Amino acid sequence: GGTIGIIGGGQLGRMLALAAAPLGLKAHIFDPHERPCAADVAAAFTRAAFDDVAALERFAAACDVVTYEFENLPVAPLATIAHKLRPGPESLRIAQDRAAEKAFVEDAGGHPAAWRQVDNPDDLAAAIDALGLPLVLKTRRDGYDGKGQAWVRDPADGPEALAALGHRPLVAEQAIAFDAEFSVVLARGADGDVAFFDSPRNVHEDGILRRSLLPAGPAIDSHVPEARRQAAAIAERLGHIGVLTVEFFACADGPLVNEIAPRVHNSGHWTIEGARTSQFEQHVRAICGWPLGSPDRTADTIELENLIGDEIERWPMLAAEAGAHLHVYDKGDARPGRKMGHVTRLR
Ligand code: ATP
Ligand code: MG
Ligand code: MG
Repeated sequence: GGTIGIIGGGQLGRMLALAAAPLGLKAHIFDPHERPCAADVAAAFTRAAFDDVAALERFAAACDVVTYEFENLPVAPLATIAHKLRPGPESLRIAQDRAAEKAFVEDAGGHPAAWRQVDNPDDLAAAIDALGLPLVLKTRRDGYDGKGQAWVRDPADGPEALAALGHRPLVAEQAIAFDAEFSVVLARGADGDVAFFDSPRNVHEDGILRRSLLPAGPAIDSHVPEARRQAAAIAERLGHIGVLTVEFFACADGPLVNEIAPRVHNSGHWTIEGARTSQFEQHVRAICGWPLGSPDRTADTIELENLIGDEIERWPMLAAEAGAHLHVYDKGDARPGRKMGHVTRLR
């Protein structure tokens, strides 16, 4: 027995809690919301702000290990429970700031798309000179599902793009004409052992992951060894313990890092039914200091499809579909663009 603390009560926390149960581990959720969907499947729930140090200390004292299901958390309060926190505060600090992340990836021998820091109109002009057009501006912090991004196709678009992003600290990235997108989802154990899941082809629409597909095909598979090398180097340099995800663009010259997530990832949801050990169990194993499980695939052809917004209303049809594994997150309000569930098909 034992208790894992999970900071953040969204669907990733929910699926972590569900994976902990068969291992004899209880989950304790920490989240400021009234009814986060992970709390429904957990043994305990603490409702408190992410920067409430006293609440975090009580929470850590009640848990054997504490992890997090998303990276947009204040680092200083969490650093006060660093002795219990896996992955540690460094993984959080790097992955929550796109500029720090890209510099870190480069130092680790990885290859991000060409980029510049943009804090004002002069920086943007310099970025356009250096990177060419079009380019994409992204807020350094807090972006997800394509939120906090603006494309600049003409220098005249600059002022409007900066205003649309609220004049926040940004990075500019070169537009990448990629052949495809894929991700490396790996787990690094407390002993430094690393296990990789197979890399799916990720299909995005409007900045949101729509599908992850296996096999990914030769245009991606040929990049996977180099991508794994970069991802493992990043994990090693972070001293990361747990699951780490690196999103890549497959390009003519090799794989380019898009971004990293210090956690289980939407493009790894297929592992619940499609791998001998799911990404959620693998994360729990890693943070608890257990040996990693086998990441081997259980089927040749696997399709993960997200159910976004009111698509969740398809659930009765999907529940009736032979071989479709339905996951409903029970998040309440099905706002447009909100990830409400997913379905995995194995063949
Ligand atoms: P996530 O929900 O994965 O955290 P995010 O909001 O952090 O998303 P990104 O992953 O940075 O956003 O970008 C979302 C998508 O936009 C990418 O998967 C890709 O399809 C497209 N995109 C992002 N950056 C670039 C780029 N430099 N060139 C071309 N397309 C890009
Ligand atoms: Mg992101
Ligand atoms: Mg992304």
